[in-house]
Amino acid sequence: MNNKKKICSICHIEKPLTEFYRQRFGNGKYRPTARCGKCASKSSKEYRIRNKKKVAKTTAKYQRKNRDKVRNWNRNWAKKNPDKMREMWKKYYIQNRDKIILRARKWKRDNAGKANAWARKNRIKNLEKRKNATKKWMQKHPEKAQEYNERRRCKIMNAIGDWTATEWKTLCDRYGNKCLRCHKTNVALTADHVIPLSKGGTNFIWNIQPLCLSCNSTKGIRSDDYRFDHRFDTTIIRAAS
Ligand SMILES: [Zn+2]
Ligand SMILES: [Zn+2]
Repeated sequence: MNNKKKICSICHIEKPLTEFYRQRFGNGKYRPTARCGKCASKSSKEYRIRNKKKVAKTTAKYQRKNRDKVRNWNRNWAKKNPDKMREMWKKYYIQNRDKIILRARKWKRDNAGKANAWARKNRIKNLEKRKNATKKWMQKHPEKAQEYNERRRCKIMNAIGDWTATEWKTLCDRYGNKCLRCHKTNVALTADHVIPLSKGGTNFIWNIQPLCLSCNSTKGIRSDDYRFDHRFDTTIIRAAS
């Protein structure tokens, strides 16, 4: 017989020794088993299926006796196989949904304080998540974001009217995309209310002028009108867009 290879007693295929499990024999030495690893696993699987109750009993007994060892082993396995773990939980959840929900409900009743704290923590976490998502979306769609912010601000101020992103773009184009106060062109433009909302100004596009952030802040709540072309009827913007 070849030293490196061996014929399996079950499948009769010649395989390298590395594919055989090793077993301790009477003389205390380890030797490869008669059947190959594949056949051994197969027969052990078949045995487990045939003797389900017996195996479950033995397993339970072993787990009771070696609680810490089993727990550690399970934890390590879970850490190494997060995908399999998720898959298992999913399957388990689908099969035991009612049981899980009932158990969770009971736990919630029995641990009201803990449950509330957990819910609060989760709510804050979700709020953060939503905030971050909104922030990302706004960075991606600055014009829409401005419109959205403006709507929200005006709702708070109870102002009537609202302008759209398209109207704002048309307005900026009409004034050469520059700040009407300092005439800078390479700055981000903000929508300034000619008559401030706090003084009863409306939020229609004809009460809006593009100013840079710095000029917008400087103007404050004065009703300064920097629109150089007063003959330009901004109401047509609304009709056009
Ligand atoms: Zn075999
Ligand atoms: Zn400016």
